[in-house]
Amino acid sequence: MIYLNGDFMPIEEARIPVLDRGFIFGDGVYEVIPVYSRRPFRLAEHLLRLQDSLDGIRLLNPHSNEHWSSLVEQIIARNESEDQYLYLHITRGVAKRDHAFPKGVMPTVFIMSNPLLAPPKELLASGVSAITTDDNRWLRCDIKAISLLPNVLLRQMAVDAGAVETVLLREGFMTEGAASNIFVVKNETLLAPPKNHLMLPGITYDVVLELAAAHKIPNEVRTVSEYEMRTAQELLLTSSTKEIMPITRLDGKPVGDGKPGPMFALLYQLYQNYKVTVMRDAVSIS
Ligand code: PMP
Repeated sequence: MIYLNGDFMPIEEARIPVLDRGFIFGDGVYEVIPVYSRRPFRLAEHLLRLQDSLDGIRLLNPHSNEHWSSLVEQIIARNESEDQYLYLHITRGVAKRDHAFPKGVMPTVFIMSNPLLAPPKELLASGVSAITTDDNRWLRCDIKAISLLPNVLLRQMAVDAGAVETVLLREGFMTEGAASNIFVVKNETLLAPPKNHLMLPGITYDVVLELAAAHKIPNEVRTVSEYEMRTAQELLLTSSTKEIMPITRLDGKPVGDGKPGPMFALLYQLYQNYKVTVMRDAVSIS
């Protein structure tokens, strides 16, 4: 069951006019929210980022947070899985094709749910491969825009190379993955690129840094050079659906000793524990 503009319906029945600006221009934003044991994870943070994305494209938020929470609750209840990932999508609505914003048009609001499967244990045990390439996206990567063509092409490069992710570099510095944030471990310290217009401010990225702070894991939020990335002890990938995964091969070469390292093991465990606690008690980390 999905939600579209006020109604719940089976996805097969959902219809969008061809003049929807999401279809014509990719003019919209989205969110992906993981749900564990039927509870949305970090909902407030996801709704805050949604607001920032809407502000970024100058589209008024069609709903209050209370209304979004109620829609989220309803979509979770109408779908079978205990663990789900919700996809929220808002476009500037349906209007005669013209780049400039239309006046008096209602945004299109779409929510769907899919089962959320934990990353396979074998992949966590072996780690995954990634490749690198130049970050050729626009300069507002902080907006979670539905126009994802660059990300689509960049991630397909990884798939074509038999890898899981493409790590992006801009002017000698690491930005993020095509669909994830990337952490580097150097001298037993967790390095994270700073949030700015060059990357998506990941919700999982925040959780990892909060866990690092709460458990006194040495960490630095600063620009990370290509050299530091290529000589890392460990590389970690984070996203709402993949959680935390070790990257053990980069451009065909082993990362560190080529096995998931102690920083991954520790953060993975802390993340799992945190998930259980937060789902049970709805508490914050610190
Ligand atoms: N960067 C990009 C480009 C992404 O698409 C994503 C989400 N798939 C992330 C980072 C990770 O963000 P989050 O932890 O909020 O899922």
